[in-house]
Amino acid sequence: MEQAGVLGKKIILHIDFDSFFASVEQQYTPHLRGKPVGVTATNGRTCIIAASRQAKQYGIKSPSHTTQAKKICPELQLVSANFHKYWEVSQQFLAICNNFSPFIEVFSIDEVFMDVTKTVPLFGNVSSLIAQLKKRIATEIGEYITVSIGISHNKLLAKLASGLQKPNGVVCIRPEDVQTVYANIPLTAICGIGERIAHRLHAMGIRSLLHIQQVPQHYLVAEFGPAEAKFLKRVSFGIDPTPLACYTTVPDAKSVGRNYCLPHNEYNQRIILQNVYELSEEIGIKLRRLGKRAKTIGISLRGGRDQHGRKTLPVAVDSGKDIFTVCKQFYDMWGFATAIQGEEQMVRMISVWAGNLLDTTYQSVPLFDTMQKREKITTVVDRINEKFGDHTIRSGYVLYGDRLTTVPNGYMADRYERSKLAKKAEEQFR
Ligand SMILES: [Mg+2]
Repeated sequence: MEQAGVLGKKIILHIDFDSFFASVEQQYTPHLRGKPVGVTATNGRTCIIAASRQAKQYGIKSPSHTTQAKKICPELQLVSANFHKYWEVSQQFLAICNNFSPFIEVFSIDEVFMDVTKTVPLFGNVSSLIAQLKKRIATEIGEYITVSIGISHNKLLAKLASGLQKPNGVVCIRPEDVQTVYANIPLTAICGIGERIAHRLHAMGIRSLLHIQQVPQHYLVAEFGPAEAKFLKRVSFGIDPTPLACYTTVPDAKSVGRNYCLPHNEYNQRIILQNVYELSEEIGIKLRRLGKRAKTIGISLRGGRDQHGRKTLPVAVDSGKDIFTVCKQFYDMWGFATAIQGEEQMVRMISVWAGNLLDTTYQSVPLFDTMQKREKITTVVDRINEKFGDHTIRSGYVLYGDRLTTVPNGYMADRYERSKLAKKAEEQFR
């Protein structure tokens, strides 16, 4: 661990709570300590969304059904999730982290990355910084809540390291350790390689990260496309140039957008358009929350063929309807519904974005009654959606479509998504 300080590179920590939800319950309800505990979703109480260390030893994983879990472990204690409490603990934890570095990225409700390169000297060395951090968590949050910490010179390896010795572990991966560590872990240990990608790699005869290092780049490109192939190649060498996205600095939004991958290859043009509409609505909501209007609207459809379009408008817009109108023009122009048939009609991924953003405060007030009325309706709809969740009130156009949900991305880059983290976590498990 000491060598981490003399790497001559960055020192990144990945801090991950051990069995977070269950540990919080055990901290606040002492009679649950040392016992197998299953935290259930707030409604129904039929699904276990988190298990305590002791429950995990019985093989109880999340998600699992309570009746099945009770069969495996009859003494299992069930508690209903309390997301507000988890959110509070998460905030307390962030406040502690702030004493050790100003460079913190909130990765999820129970995980952060912290760049301590410049602050380590204040605490002596990396070990003593970690010891002090752990001590503060124990005294200020509770001794029953522990964290596992990974140390490395980039986020990829720090995250990998924190998972190697759970619970309460501290693991350092130095550049020279990469080959040894990689020889002993499955492909899925890497953040970004899921079961599906691992399965496709297995089908190609690739079983380990070290093996990816040897595979010619164009083999990977043929299977995964250029972007994913580049990602796989770089992680196979333990390289990760992505910087920390500090949670305290909210960058001024340059554009808002959203990609949506349809659950299967879609040929039904009505469903495709419904999804374009929903994404347009979502971009509209985001723009209005940011107090911005967009002069440029863009749309991409990928599937049987790829189409990209962007249009700069004479007047900046912030309503889903206006954004959709632009998207629909491209959709018609590309002939998805009419001119072409078969595979060419298929869409798998839709992206809608808005760029060239202007502050709403500098915009003129609409002159005409109809426009003013429309603005009022939009404001009311926004308030309702804020209160009851996005897409509660939706246009008739999407009445029969799948309900989309704004899921926060891994790096919580969006200010609103970040502030609604606890609420989203709760919704996710409902
Ligand atoms: Mg965790």
